Amino acid sequence: MRDVDSLVDDLVMEGVIHSPPVERAMRAVRREDFVPGRLRGSAYADHPLPIGGGQTISAPHMVAIMAEELQVEEGNSVLEIGTGSGYHAAVVSHLVGPEGRIISIERVDRLADNGRKNLIISGISNVQVIGADGSGGYPDGAPYDRIYYTCAAPKIPMRVMDQLKEGGVLLGVVGPNGGVQVLIRYRKKDGKIEDEPLMRCVFVPLMGKYGYG
Ligand code: SAH
Repeated sequence: MRDVDSLVDDLVMEGVIHSPPVERAMRAVRREDFVPGRLRGSAYADHPLPIGGGQTISAPHMVAIMAEELQVEEGNSVLEIGTGSGYHAAVVSHLVGPEGRIISIERVDRLADNGRKNLIISGISNVQVIGADGSGGYPDGAPYDRIYYTCAAPKIPMRVMDQLKEGGVLLGVVGPNGGVQVLIRYRKKDGKIEDEPLMRCVFVPLMGKYGYG
């Protein structure tokens, strides 16, 4: 059976993972602890898997790409919009280290509870899961060094950009619900927002007030 090391070896060989901290973080998280029991045998296949409620745990290569592109530094304060299974947050939690913290917001209560449980089972204590609509971010925890979406938004509202620190990075997925979307890296520089489209991708939609309803 495939294990986490064979998965990460492949992602390194393919050039998807290229920085040692991301490689270490990906090896440190057992994806099998974040997928439903009956799918455990597929945990190390590189594709998304259903986690209930029409939602999915992202494919490992997508989590690795986003972990590279987010340019996380140890000690960062991070906001994740869309906890899902908690797997992506678990990977980023290793990148921010014990001095860092992640707030992860999930609008489906059952998934928020499940994500919180998965993170505890994995021994991760620097992620706080909030069960609420995160389409407008989470101002109570702002400002953040890094913000990332794990679902596709119609656009990134200014109220979310406002929660980013000067010099901070936001990875957004922008595009139509059910169509091809773009992963975009935004950087706040001298109070202005620079944007850099990175690649095409397909994510589940952001719902809620500033999402797809
Ligand atoms: N990163 C996750 C994958 C999440 S899939 C993982 O590793 O498993 C995207 C998640 O975004 C889904 O769980 C969905 O319920 C959530 N979501 C959609 N709209 C949201 C919103 N407005 N606020 C918070 N979470 C939202």
